[in-house]
Amino acid sequence: MNPNAAVNLRDYIRDIPDFPKPGIVFKDISPLLADGNAFSAAISQMACSMPQGIDAIVGIEARGFIFGAALAQQTGVGFVPVRKPGKLPAEVHSIEYELEYGFDALEIHRDALSQGHKIVIVDDLLATGGTARATVDLVRRLGAEVTACLFVIELGFLGGSDLLNDVPIHALVSY
Ligand code: AMP
Repeated sequence: MNPNAAVNLRDYIRDIPDFPKPGIVFKDISPLLADGNAFSAAISQMACSMPQGIDAIVGIEARGFIFGAALAQQTGVGFVPVRKPGKLPAEVHSIEYELEYGFDALEIHRDALSQGHKIVIVDDLLATGGTARATVDLVRRLGAEVTACLFVIELGFLGGSDLLNDVPIHALVSY
């Protein structure tokens, strides 16, 4: 039997109340990363949701790098980072997006993807959807096609999928 089949990923995600600020319940994936079998199961499950013919995985800083890079390695495609402002060294495209209070921004290298490239976006968690929405729009500016957004966790009660209604989304665990 595949040892990954017995893994319930929920058992490896813990709630940290009031982090990073009062009222937020942070979904901490540290126990999942620390367990080789659970981490491997998560990546295998994500690989099952990957459409065919993908050219690259786009991972969102920072926890999207962990899952995105592992998924890229497992499925034999390249990895493209989407980063916080000022981190990427070559020419970038930037996008601003709204947070609960204020704005944030994300950047991608202008030469990271080309017209017609088929990509999958990966992050650890879908909450309100603002981060993933901004990433979809950023990738489309380069002419690439977003075939799916993959998450380890979806907080369904926050309605993030409504913001992503033009892209297929998959989450391994939903709350
Ligand atoms: P959002 O743009 O609201 O969908 O937020 C998604 C981003 O914020 C992801 O990169 C998550 O890592 C992080 N995030 C938001 N809410 C939580 C939470 N409750 N627990 C852990 N990470 C979160």
